[in-house]
Amino acid sequence: MDKITYLIDDLLNTTRTNQGQLHLNFSEFTIVDMLEKCCHHIRMGGKHKLTLQGDQGLKMWADEVRIDQVVVNLVNNAVKYAPDQREIYLIVEDLGDWVKVSVKDNGPGISKDKLAHLFDRYYRVDYSGVQYSGLGLGLYISAEIIKKHNGKIGVDSEVGKGSTFWFTLPKKT
Ligand code: ADP
Repeated sequence: MDKITYLIDDLLNTTRTNQGQLHLNFSEFTIVDMLEKCCHHIRMGGKHKLTLQGDQGLKMWADEVRIDQVVVNLVNNAVKYAPDQREIYLIVEDLGDWVKVSVKDNGPGISKDKLAHLFDRYYRVDYSGVQYSGLGLGLYISAEIIKKHNGKIGVDSEVGKGSTFWFTLPKKT
């Protein structure tokens, strides 16, 4: 049921973003508070340990519901593509005029030629022999949400060395 809900949410969100209907409700919130609340389903599952690192007091001016959705997407991907790795790190950094949030896993990593396409609509890496459910929309939707906040989204990854998906948002809009 959860999986189907995620798929339907993804499709509805894509339609909304394509029609320019992604409206943002800005407010100020403490990033670690949002990160602590956001991934209950993973913590409850008990298979993965989410470790919060970095600036505890740093605040963000953004649409908390949408940013929560981005983080959930990134953490769900870490769980899905790095299932044997227990540790997932959520890292908060103060970059002066920007804040940075990263989700780091120690999974299989992604090869260089694929990295540029990950945020494209419907793009999925073909892991031969292994079936991961998904539509290839999560990162596309996440990128649309971050772009709408005038932020940046990206990934640092190397095969065998895990992946760090990150986004930065301006402190002031
Ligand atoms: P989906 O998970 O539905 O395929 P996404 O847009 O969320 O779609 O991700 C696109 C692709 O990026 C995935 O198919 C997967 O190949 C790759 N990917 C995303 N997150 C990770 C990760 N943490 N580790 C390895 N590969 C990843």
